[in-house]
Order: sequence, then structure tokens, then C-alpha cells
Amino acid sequence: MANRKLILFWKLPRQFQEMALSLYSRKLERAYYGKGYDEWRHWLQDCKKWTYQEIKKWENKQLAYIIQTAATRVPFYQEYWNGIEWQKIKTSSDLHVLPIIDKNHVRIAKNKLLVNGLKPKSLWVEKTSGSTGSPINIYWPMDMLPKWWAIVEVMIRYQAGVSQEMPRAMVGGRPIVPGDKKSPPYWLWNPRWNQLYLSSYHISPRTTSDYVNALIKYSPQWITGYGSSIATLARNALEKGLPHFPVKAVIVSGDTLFKSMRMDIETYFETKCYDSYGQCEGVSMAMECPHGRLHLLPFVGVTEILCEDDSPCAPGQVGEMVVTTLLNDAMPLIRYRTGDYAAWAKEQKCPCGNPNPIITNLEGRIDDFLVTEDGRKISHISTAMKQNDAIHSTQILQDRPGHAFVLIQPRKEFGKLNIKRLEEELLNRIGNFEFEFFEVSEIPKTPQGKTKLVIRLYESREADQIYKKYLEDLCNKSKRINSC
Ligand SMILES: [Zn+2]
Repeated sequence: MANRKLILFWKLPRQFQEMALSLYSRKLERAYYGKGYDEWRHWLQDCKKWTYQEIKKWENKQLAYIIQTAATRVPFYQEYWNGIEWQKIKTSSDLHVLPIIDKNHVRIAKNKLLVNGLKPKSLWVEKTSGSTGSPINIYWPMDMLPKWWAIVEVMIRYQAGVSQEMPRAMVGGRPIVPGDKKSPPYWLWNPRWNQLYLSSYHISPRTTSDYVNALIKYSPQWITGYGSSIATLARNALEKGLPHFPVKAVIVSGDTLFKSMRMDIETYFETKCYDSYGQCEGVSMAMECPHGRLHLLPFVGVTEILCEDDSPCAPGQVGEMVVTTLLNDAMPLIRYRTGDYAAWAKEQKCPCGNPNPIITNLEGRIDDFLVTEDGRKISHISTAMKQNDAIHSTQILQDRPGHAFVLIQPRKEFGKLNIKRLEEELLNRIGNFEFEFFEVSEIPKTPQGKTKLVIRLYESREADQIYKKYLEDLCNKSKRINSC
């Protein structure tokens, strides 16, 4: 939502906000649950009886179609795979003959990754951001949406004993209310979907009772969203001794779910907490079974887990998830680095009977949060960067609660307006916070060689020492930029 539109939306009376949200949901419904959705849902329910061999047979056929589409109709691969005998790829174990691509390839290739002749306007766009906040567009063919949402419904929601029709609460990072809002409501009710959307940004010990009262008022039967935010809400409610709020299931995604987080959620909501995995690129999904194992979902994509030298990881060895789509034949991502890390479980047999591979040690981006002066933890900061195409990458160095330095590696078209926009996007989510912006030619890496979006300097003496000198140099070189 553009900023002016967002401010206008915030000013609307509640019933008009709900009406606007209902209208928007109606539009989404046509795309998500339109032509093909019911057929896919029924087909997926039948597929639950399939053996692993039957699933693999479907996968190989679909993989061959995707590879052929890419090799013959997508300009990027026509160039990139020059001289490679792609025709020899018969199964997922042959994929290693193809080169790996990452977010940077996608950013540079732009529309050359689309099937010849397809117009972006005729496609669905998902915006995503890399580990350093640089935005990229991923296009989905419109007929992939009903397939995707049928998979979500059958293989994630039904698995947890819930469904789209049941009233639910969603804890997420959309700026539905101003970031500096000091009094409730910190949520928005969507009457069309029976969905209570709770802002993840305002969850704090002070606001706990307000959130719980909203849950009581709207009585969702299940809860979904960021695991870290739902766990914080549960922890705060338990610490305050508030009455438990039992629901049928909690399905979390988007973070690493630690044991303590799961315990808090399961205690307060008196239910099982299911972990799940997915990403905007729509190339892979996983869902926890009743036996606590995270199974990859079939029909979405083919997952490889690769070591640093790009060789396949042994069971138990953590590596990067590199994924090939089976659904997206408009912008096929093939051997695409997701930036997420996991390991194959050593024991692949599960008492639940699901034959699909089990992953463990899934590492999300739990650490990407800022701390406000009033002690709120603002996670999923990268969502604020998604809209800003002129920024190559960013890093936020927080030196104290309520204050941070933002390093920006700009692209050619970068200007002061982009800073203003980024600052607004951040403040919309956070509220009161002070940022200082610096232009840099490269984002520094951690001593471990990783790039991180948020580093809280005051929590790590090592980081503080490294960055203190770095920031002093930046100040001396007058690299400071501001938004006005
Ligand atoms: Zn299982």
C-alpha cells in the first residue's frame, strides 16, 4: 500500500476499514479460490493415499515439463544453460548438472526470467527481500494461486485439524495501524474471512491484556502467523496470570521455533503448535506432522540441501535449501538459493506414515529485530525494505534501544526520496524511533562471513568493537545522508 493511501486508511472509521478490507479480500478470493481450486483440493485429498513412488512419478513428469519450458522458452536459461544437456535430466537427482541461481540473478535478469511473450501485468507478483533487505519481484502465473492455496488448505490447515472457513487470528507484520499507536485496537477484523489480524509490532507486556481481550471478543478457533510474536504474546499472558485462551491449533511460520517458544504457545493456547515453512517465492513448503517432524510438501518444488561447496549435505548436516519449482511455469526458479538453512533428518521413517522427506534444524531469520525505547521487539524488519527498488542492500546497526544506523548500498537510480520512503516504511511499523542513514559501497560481513540485516551492537562486545571504528570512519568521511 502506498504511504498516502496507508495514512488515509488509518484515518478511516473502523467500520469503513473493515469494509475496505472485505472488498480487498473479495478480490484476493477470486485469485486464490477461483478456477481450479476445488479440483486441486479434491485431487490433493486423493493423493494422500499415494506411495512415495507414485509421488516421485508425478514429480519427474512435472520436473521434465518445467526444465523444458525453461530451456526452450525462458531467455535467461537459454543463455545461462548454453551447452548444458538439460534433456538428460530425468529425476531430481540429475539436477546437479544445472548451475545454481540466487536472488542476485533474479534481480539482474528481471523479465528475462519470464517465459517469452508473457507480460508481468498478466501475472501475480510477490515481493520478497534478500538477507540484506534488497527487494526482488517474483511473478506467479495466475493459475498457480488456486493450486498453492489448495495445498495450503489440504496439507497445512487440514493437517492441523482446521480450515479456511473457521474463524482465525493472524499475527503478522502488515502496518494495519500506525507504529506509534499507544492505545488499542492494535488489530483489524476482516468480516469476510472471519479473520482477526493482530499487529505483531505492538505486542508487549503493556498491551497483553488488550490483545487477549480482542481474542476473547472475536473468538478465533485457530491462530497463525509469526511464531516469535505469538510466543511473546503467550509468554506475556502467562506471566501476567491471564486466563488461558484454548484454540484448536496454532500454526506458525517465518521464524525459527525454539522449544521454549513452543512450550509457551502450547501452554497458553492449550493446543498443539504446528511449525510450518514456506516463502514468497512459492518454491517450497513444509509442515509439521502430529509426531513433531517437519515433512516437505510434495507437488510444490524439489528441495536440495547443499554444503558451502554446493555438494549435497549428508543427513544431519546443515546446509542451504536450494529449490526447483514444480508449479511456476511462468517464471521458473530452478536450483534457486532460498537463503534458508536446514538438514535432512537422520531418521526419515515417521510413525505418521507420511512418506515425504523430513527436515530438521530449520533456521529462519529470528534475529532480525529492533528494540524500541519502550522495550518492544520489532521483528521481520525486511518487510519494510521490499518496496524500495533503488536500494541494493541494507544493514541496520542498533547501538541502543530506540536508535540505529542504517547502512545503504544504493543502486544507480537511488535518491533522497528513497531514503524518505524507507524511513517512512520503517516508522509506519515501529512508531517512535531514530534512524541515521549512511551510504556505503558495500555492506560489511560478520566475522563469520555472513551478511546480517540487523546487528544489535550493545548485545555483543565483539560486534561493537568492529563496528565502532567502522562507524567513526563513515562519520569522518561524511557519508551521512538524511531524508530531507
Ligand atoms: Zn510424520
